[in-house]
Amino acid sequence: MSTDKTFSMIKPMAVKKGYIGPILSKITEGGFQIVGMKYTQLSKEQAEEFYGVHKGRPFFESLVTFMSSGPIVALALKKENAVSDFRTLIGATNPAEAAEGTIRRMFAETIDANAVHGSDSDENAQIETSFFFSQRELHNVDLIDAKQYTVCEKS
Ligand code: UDP
Ligand code: MG
Repeated sequence: MSTDKTFSMIKPMAVKKGYIGPILSKITEGGFQIVGMKYTQLSKEQAEEFYGVHKGRPFFESLVTFMSSGPIVALALKKENAVSDFRTLIGATNPAEAAEGTIRRMFAETIDANAVHGSDSDENAQIETSFFFSQRELHNVDLIDAKQYTVCEKS
């Protein structure tokens, strides 16, 4: 059974290009609710740990250097069928192969600096979320219809 949680990161190059806002818009327009959000920077050791499954692969060293090269935005996300739907929203690992309209196609050019991370399984979503967030940093908010509420006017 799939859970309704996934984990994402906006990667350093996308942050440097000023794409935090546009990428967050795509994520929320895609029906994902932000449950946790953190603007932070990984140390080299933390990047090595986070991407530990890729240790030994030819791109591992450059991936770790890149992922620790600047700030990232860590995101805990909620939606029905979250892991799979989020992978669809971001597109293929290589932006050149990502479908039109996907986040990687829109905001990335290269396979290494491919704008965003997305968990590949429910189990990894859980592991990756707790890598960045404690329980008290995660907030389930019942969204309201903004049109039904007016801004409080100052007296
Ligand atoms: N990566 C890379 N070169 C490759 C494959 C992957 O630089 O040939 C990087 C890329 O940033 C990717 C990350 O390593 O997002 C993790 O790779 P994975 O195969 O898990 O792709 P993803 O799950 O991010 O689509
Ligand atoms: Mg992966």
